[in-house]
Amino acid sequence: MFKPFFYLSLVAFVVTGCSEVSTKSDADSTLKTEKYISIKGVDIQDPTDFEWKAETVADLGLYRYQIPASSWNNLDVQKRTYVYYLGQAGLAGRDMMWDQNYRYNLEIREALEAVYTNSEDKSSDEFNAFKEYTKRVWFSNGIHHHYSMMKFTPEFSKTWFGNALQEAKGTISEEALQAMFDSEMDSKKVELDPKKGLLESSAVNFYAPDISTAEAEAFYADMIDRSDKRPIEYGLNSRLYKDADGTIKEDVYKVGGLYGPALERVVFWLEKAEKIAETPRKATALRKLIQYYKTGDLKIWDDYNIQWAAAVEGDVDYINGFIEVYNDPLGYRGSYETVVEINDVDASGRMKVLMDNVQWFEDNSPFLPEHKKDKVVGVSYKVVNVASEAGDASPSTPIGVNLPNSNWIRAQYGSKSVSLGNIVYAYSKAGGSGMLKEFSNDEEEIAMAEKYGDAAGKMHTALHEVVGHASGKLEEGVGTPKETLKSYASTIEEGRADLVALYFMLDNKLVEYGLMESTDVGRAEYDSYIRNGMLAQLRRLEKGADIEEAHMRNRAWIAHWVVEKGGSEVIEKLEREGNIFYNIVNYEKLQGLFGELLQKVQTIKSQGDYAAAEALVDGYGVKVNQDVHQQVLDRSSKLKSPAYGGFVNPVLEAVVDKEGNITDVEVNYGMTFEEQMLFYSDKYGHLRTGIRK
Ligand code: ZN
Repeated sequence: MFKPFFYLSLVAFVVTGCSEVSTKSDADSTLKTEKYISIKGVDIQDPTDFEWKAETVADLGLYRYQIPASSWNNLDVQKRTYVYYLGQAGLAGRDMMWDQNYRYNLEIREALEAVYTNSEDKSSDEFNAFKEYTKRVWFSNGIHHHYSMMKFTPEFSKTWFGNALQEAKGTISEEALQAMFDSEMDSKKVELDPKKGLLESSAVNFYAPDISTAEAEAFYADMIDRSDKRPIEYGLNSRLYKDADGTIKEDVYKVGGLYGPALERVVFWLEKAEKIAETPRKATALRKLIQYYKTGDLKIWDDYNIQWAAAVEGDVDYINGFIEVYNDPLGYRGSYETVVEINDVDASGRMKVLMDNVQWFEDNSPFLPEHKKDKVVGVSYKVVNVASEAGDASPSTPIGVNLPNSNWIRAQYGSKSVSLGNIVYAYSKAGGSGMLKEFSNDEEEIAMAEKYGDAAGKMHTALHEVVGHASGKLEEGVGTPKETLKSYASTIEEGRADLVALYFMLDNKLVEYGLMESTDVGRAEYDSYIRNGMLAQLRRLEKGADIEEAHMRNRAWIAHWVVEKGGSEVIEKLEREGNIFYNIVNYEKLQGLFGELLQKVQTIKSQGDYAAAEALVDGYGVKVNQDVHQQVLDRSSKLKSPAYGGFVNPVLEAVVDKEGNITDVEVNYGMTFEEQMLFYSDKYGHLRTGIRK
């Protein structure tokens, strides 16, 4: 059972006469003041003593984000209820992400949680090691590191665990136990090196273990109609397996199919949301999403995305689906992800300027003329505040999202870009300046970052999402990047969007548009990009490992390429007391190099040039100089700040009256990470017995 937790001072200002609150009115009575009374509902005030940091576990920093009062108080009860339903729908699917990541994850999680909750031993070294392991597993939605993809090594013995599990009256299968303790077995979640076998060496549960890369590729080669101008996202919502006769089939995620029990609950909440959707178009979109989850039909998923992309009005939006394909080495299957968003009206207004002028960027890009779009369609950009996240987006979260992913829908109907404003803000509040100081070349660089860093980060994200991903076009008859560039498609696309942002960040046009106070914002971004791509980001990598993650790869290949091409007249490499620093000496020339590389990368995408993508990514973005890596690890380890961040979510709770009507929704922040993880498993553990074949 879930135990009540502590509330910080901001929670639940229950207004007299507003509602019957079953559990916790007494403790909050001192907080009631007329200042917060609102006819719209129960207003909150941003807390001044908010705990941005929750805890640190191994290489992980756990933080908290706020739903700002300015966003929440802007919503009436119906909209808050809408947020609540969408949040519940998201959480109801949480278990799917666990099972997608690895076929034994749910079973292992259940065993870990049994020991975690019931063990008598709460203090031995083994228990402490077990506790850290469990928290890392929770953070990654499974037993493989969310970023490095490598399986965690338990620092407690199999014997200790076996005994503790028995005491806790938990169970686990022999295979799942082996998966935990045998370091050879399924050691990596996603392997992107084709030479090692993309599926053969990946533990991710999108394909049954007996399906080979060649078989999966042949299966889709047969299925995909390349002449189709409106292709569905083949393979997005299924697991590939062999039936008794050895025939390869898709086991589709749908109500009544694979993940049925979780999807039933997702649909249950979405149906409630649909009834109170903000606009008819949003209701239509939700009906399509429900229909898609009931049928698994990817054509309906496309219909949904068309409606969803067009539904730009209103205060509340959401992402819900099998979306990003980074976890599939073949790039077909989407990981379950949800984010519930409340529009940040002021910040979005500023960014609308960018949307309105997106064609200017296309026309003035360094692309070859034949790769420019005559008309960039329907780019929508908003700054939103996150109210709830689950699946692939939690605890580790994106800070900006651009959807839908289908290329033809984006081209014909547009897409939505959001920057997750309160997440970005929470990071800036929680993180220190240690890394900046360690890796900056001089005081001037630090001062620039401190003055412009926030603005630069936001501007980069906005340009990356709105202008970057929307820009450029494929040549006639060239397949989608997933087909042509295969495992390089993600990093090429992310790098391309970064390069668009970098290229324009030194452009005075952004100052003219009122988006930056000066091009110094751009210079601060250049410093930061080179610092990170050449040095700082290597702290996230284990010694000896190659760079795997798409964004991390693209930061490396961009930075290394411009450093090499530019030489010391653009970026000089300095060494002091054995430590390496990079100093940009000519920002304008660097902008020119970003433009040159951007044209090259756009051509790779437009022509589907696999060999060129391979040469660029493998040549500059994968291998790491071991001495430099060791130096970065040494320099950052003394700072003791975690390499990865993630979030404990606020908990939304419905306030109901005697008849069961929702009269308001409360936002509570007080949970610890472990309380939240146990709470989620208890309340939303819809696939708890695990689904395996
Ligand atoms: Zn991107």
